[in-house]
Amino acid sequence: MDAFKDFEAANERYVETFGAKGALPLPPAKKLTIVTCMDARIDPAAHLGIKEGDAHVIRNAGGVCKEALRSIVISQQLLGTQEIAVFHHTDCGMLTFTNSDIKSLLEERYPAAADEVKDIDFLPFANLEQSVKDDVQFLKQHPLVLKDIRITGWIYEVETGKVRQIV
Ligand SMILES: [Zn+2]
Repeated sequence: MDAFKDFEAANERYVETFGAKGALPLPPAKKLTIVTCMDARIDPAAHLGIKEGDAHVIRNAGGVCKEALRSIVISQQLLGTQEIAVFHHTDCGMLTFTNSDIKSLLEERYPAAADEVKDIDFLPFANLEQSVKDDVQFLKQHPLVLKDIRITGWIYEVETGKVRQIV
């Protein structure tokens, strides 16, 4: 496949219109952190009108806040963000397996790595709306997340591009 072979040509086109973005400050202008899924169908900058310099966008499988915590703490404590928006989405891969499903598969493929497999929580979820509520609650009660800030929770619909606020 070698997808990387397209990088340089695409980058040349990007650099042509890069403009003044090289002078953007490091802290996000909107003082906003977005947590969302790594799903290839999602472009958070496009669907939320976020431009370079506006926000931190933390992505992982599911947009799971427990995994994003390290980045959230850095974002708040060192780079001044004061608002978090959590996005999960329809048709997410995280709704399609359980911890025991993926652990069985890994144990079969990597029999010598049983200890490593045992140690990982893959953090799947079974209910989309509840998973958003749970993640917002996780952040609100976490001692290392700023208190008295706005934390909202959302669902993005991959079928329509629409977002819907849950929390
Ligand atoms: Zn997903």
